[in-house]
Amino acid sequence: MHHSHAIAGMIDRLHQPDYDRWAHQIKRTGGCRQPIHLRGKVEHFDQATGQLLHRYTTNREPNGVLRVPCKTRRASRCPACAEVYRADTYQLVRAGLIGGKGVPETVSSHPCLFVTLTAPSFGTVHTRREKNGKVQPCHARRNAETCPHGHVMSCTDRHSTEDPRLGEPLCLDCYDYDGSVLFNAISPELWRRFTLALRRRFARLNGLTVKALRDQVTIAFAKVAEYQRRGVVHFHAVIRLDGPDGPNSPPPAWATADTLAQAVQHAAAAVTAEIKPLSRTFRWGTQLDVRHITMNGDLTEQAVAAYIAKYATKAAECVGTLDRRIQPLDNLDALPVRDHARRLIAACMRLGSDEDLADLRLTQWAHMLGFRGHFSTKSRHYSTTLGDLRAAREEHMRTEEISLGRLPLFDEDTILVVAHWEYAGQGLSLGEQLLAAAITGHRVPNLGEQHDA
Ligand SMILES: [Zn+2]
Ligand SMILES: [Zn+2]
Ligand SMILES: [Zn+2]
Repeated sequence: MHHSHAIAGMIDRLHQPDYDRWAHQIKRTGGCRQPIHLRGKVEHFDQATGQLLHRYTTNREPNGVLRVPCKTRRASRCPACAEVYRADTYQLVRAGLIGGKGVPETVSSHPCLFVTLTAPSFGTVHTRREKNGKVQPCHARRNAETCPHGHVMSCTDRHSTEDPRLGEPLCLDCYDYDGSVLFNAISPELWRRFTLALRRRFARLNGLTVKALRDQVTIAFAKVAEYQRRGVVHFHAVIRLDGPDGPNSPPPAWATADTLAQAVQHAAAAVTAEIKPLSRTFRWGTQLDVRHITMNGDLTEQAVAAYIAKYATKAAECVGTLDRRIQPLDNLDALPVRDHARRLIAACMRLGSDEDLADLRLTQWAHMLGFRGHFSTKSRHYSTTLGDLRAAREEHMRTEEISLGRLPLFDEDTILVVAHWEYAGQGLSLGEQLLAAAITGHRVPNLGEQHDA
């Protein structure tokens, strides 16, 4: 049924007199699966005389709209745009490690760590561990206790990497679901406190006040959040020492990676964040990984940049939850997720209805299992920004537009640009999806997939 509908839509689009223009637009969206439709105009006026020099409107575009990429970071929504985001994140992290994109190459000599901060345990979960290349039994316990719900707290299975039970509790009824989603909700605050504590500790280890440290050293961060299978976030971060002017200035010789690592260990163990209405205090898990990033050691800059960029395009969907917001009237029992994810979502909905916890916005972020932070962030001095990278790309596109004769080349200082845009929908019809895949060389999505259009 979907196929005949798709083919009819495809033929219809191909027969439109403005097909070439449509195909050009689609090519420019770089294979975006859900392009945004904009209706509007741009007018260029001469500032001195007020004369209209050029007008572009979407009136003559196919369907009266311009199609632009959705720019999502989430691969499950739009693989093409997520790939652009991943590549940009890679460039950004890499520039902060070895220079480039306006960051001097000397940055590669600055002391730098790769740190993973984990979440604490909320109950025993199925895990896969390897030892000397052999998969170990999950939780083999000789005299395992039986929990109050009658489950023996032991699992001798050697789980495959695809086993859906990985990350799921040995007993769902014993698992601290509230704790898991509250940790996700409070983790951005815990991270913020970690960065403050790290500065304080690093200053003290060097016999300085925080203010005196700031005159000599900047601590730069870039981090991503990653969902573990159990549905809780942990953070991977690059932490670098710079001089007072950021990546352009070397740190003093006494500011070493070893002292920074000591300060990280201390700060990670020390900070807490409290959810006062529930009198619950959260801290990082005891598993802390701190590694030096070096040009030719075990952990190279490229490896770190690739690792961080990979996680930047993932979200909670990798734990089997949903890639959209949950509505208060959604029937949770009917959601196509496993029980573990359903219980995490249910915990968000239940705690989210508590007015005292309104700031945590757990209902709105139930589909993210309570986490509402940014997936990748960096401190101001780390490297270039995603915005700069996008601006550079858009400038390139604009140059191309000019060469194609669509936009006349004006001197920006003497021209007034008046633009008006409005949102006119999103997405592609089934037939258009097939054509777009053919035009851009991207994978054809599953027919019948839901779109936000
Ligand atoms: Zn897209
Ligand atoms: Zn197991
Ligand atoms: Zn139990």
